[in-house]
Amino acid sequence: MIQVKCQRCWKVFEASEESIGKTKTCLFCKKETIIKPFEDTPAEEKPTENWMKTQGTNILLGVLIVINFLYILIMTVVSQKQLSESIFLDTFHPTVEWQAKVDKQMEILQREIQAVKESTQKLSQAIDKSRIEIIANFVGAIENSSTNMEQYSLKIDALHTSISSLQIKLDQLQKEVAKSSTNDPKTIPSPKKP
Ligand SMILES: [Zn+2]
Repeated sequence: MIQVKCQRCWKVFEASEESIGKTKTCLFCKKETIIKPFEDTPAEEKPTENWMKTQGTNILLGVLIVINFLYILIMTVVSQKQLSESIFLDTFHPTVEWQAKVDKQMEILQREIQAVKESTQKLSQAIDKSRIEIIANFVGAIENSSTNMEQYSLKIDALHTSISSLQIKLDQLQKEVAKSSTNDPKTIPSPKKP
């Protein structure tokens, strides 16, 4: 017995080997079909089937290889990225030591800023102080000089007074000298005290 494929309904049934090449009624569709072995397909169909079998498989394999290659490529890139990220995290992950270092640096920086602030304040205070001192000294010098001027003026006044009193005495002396010279030169009176 051989396997036969109906040419009408394409269903497979069995027939005797003697009936090959003869016409027989299909068991399923009850139509007439030429009996030939199931494997014995027409010659013109073979290339298509062969092509489907060989080239199709090749193409499928090629596609699979390409997909595999792309998958490997993508996985490599992803894993490298993850690796570089993990290296980055290993290097710069904020560990306790790292945080402590940063905190210490920040503390030093803040202290330096504070020191600069304080020295600036001191400098500005010193400038203010020296300005006040300079002004005070200047005012003091002016006051001193004005006091001196007053004193000089008083002294000059006193000198003037003594000069005028001396002038008066001199006048009196001259008068008395004139009198005594006309009357008695021996009786020259002593000058009276002012
Ligand atoms: Zn049939």
